[in-house]
Amino acid sequence: MLPKYTSTRDCKVKISSKDAIIKGISKEGGLFVLNDIDKINIDIEPMLNYSYQEMAFNVFKMLLPDFNESEIKKCIDDAYFNSFDNNEITPLKNLNHLDILELFHGPTCAFKDIGLQMLPQLMKCALKTNFINKKVMILTATSGDTGKAALVGFKDVENIAISVFYPHNKVSNMQYQQMATQAGVNTNVCAIEGNFDDAQTAVKALFKDKQLNDILNSKQLYLSSANSINIGRLIPQVVYYFDAYAKMRKSNKIKKGEKVNFCVPTGNFGNILAGYYAKLMGLPINKLIVASNSNNVLYDFINKGFYNRQREFIKTISPSMDILISSNLERLLYYMCDKDTNVISKYMSDLESIGHYQLDLKVLAKIQETFVAGFATDLDCNTAIKECFKTNKYLIDPHTATGYVVAREYQKIDNEHRCILLSTASPYKFAPQVYNALTNTYINDEWECIEKLNTLTKMPVPKSILELKNLPILHNELINIEQMKDYIIKKSLKGEQND
Ligand SMILES: *Cc1c(COP(=O)(O)O)cnc(C)c1O
Repeated sequence: MLPKYTSTRDCKVKISSKDAIIKGISKEGGLFVLNDIDKINIDIEPMLNYSYQEMAFNVFKMLLPDFNESEIKKCIDDAYFNSFDNNEITPLKNLNHLDILELFHGPTCAFKDIGLQMLPQLMKCALKTNFINKKVMILTATSGDTGKAALVGFKDVENIAISVFYPHNKVSNMQYQQMATQAGVNTNVCAIEGNFDDAQTAVKALFKDKQLNDILNSKQLYLSSANSINIGRLIPQVVYYFDAYAKMRKSNKIKKGEKVNFCVPTGNFGNILAGYYAKLMGLPINKLIVASNSNNVLYDFINKGFYNRQREFIKTISPSMDILISSNLERLLYYMCDKDTNVISKYMSDLESIGHYQLDLKVLAKIQETFVAGFATDLDCNTAIKECFKTNKYLIDPHTATGYVVAREYQKIDNEHRCILLSTASPYKFAPQVYNALTNTYINDEWECIEKLNTLTKMPVPKSILELKNLPILHNELINIEQMKDYIIKKSLKGEQND
């Protein structure tokens, strides 16, 4: 079979999905993309009664052509058997004005579990078939949620180790607690001086660092990524768009072929890009609504076509969206610029060297046919959390709140299409912010706050959060950006000695 994946920055690259999943990112810095995804056409109508797992099987078959059916089945079983606290994996809740797709029922209570329960299975399978005797070190920069979800997914997976870097003092207490207590013989967690973009930029540079790669490769060890730039993480997220649509159809909330809007709280543009993939694959989607927090670089981009990362970095109550460089946007540009990899390379090198680029206006118009964007300040989010609880007895977290604000705003313009809001985290993951929004009182102690929030709202606390309380801190290193390379070498060699 011909390899179907290519790079956003070099159309000569031809690579299988297994290789793309192991490599994570292309040599010249581009992202792997399925170049003919727009030729796929899935008819959702015969799939309305599928389970989440069956839906996943059908989507994966299309997007991972070099995995055979039994491999795909095994990966799905291993990823989604018993790891979620809801049988439906991503249940759909109906509020008065909105449908909410709950993506937070996995082991770390944020949507990233959906990709990161699957990615290790896909990688394990790809290593077995295409990379015999080779090992992988996963490098991940996290703004908070990816790190923990990746650690849980990769914990004790054979032939794979993982190193997670998070910005010191820029993740929530809960996120810190989740990462610092992570067990597993193959897990490394380290704080860095800087913000998330600094961490992500440094990780990207390490992937390209020849000296580092030479040292590791000589030991049959290869770097890979668990960030949403890895297609093995992105593809599982396409599934819940199909699943949500099928549920809406099944309950007769929409008619056959009727288009819906999805509103997605966005940072790195991964989650919403998966929605665009679903649309390219034939799912009846009208608009994809980008919801940002005050770091509203995507809001400006989608409205004006000018991407400018040179702006103040704002620390918000939705830290997982505090991002100024949205990596996955590059994949959208690939499809929007008619797969012209020279154009993408130019935009991306402008972004790297001068910090901004201006989109061709024809391309902008094409993007605006599908995408609209809004943003919500912390104040807007606090009001939304309170209002949503008051009117619906339904609690949302600050990330979901950005989407709630933007979706409600957009409904004033478009009340014809049903709007599905993606809920990206459990409110208990950000209890002090949520409690403050409801009561105007900030409780510093996370555990006291969780208890109070539970008493006030009667919403159940996820078991995986309660369990954290008594776990010992296992990781407490803090380094600067320049030390990351040595850290990785040290941790990789540690793995060697354990063999
Ligand atoms: C990561 C994350 C987001 C942003 O998702 P992207 O795919 O990076 O756009 C939103 N909300 C929560 C809770 C997250 O963890």
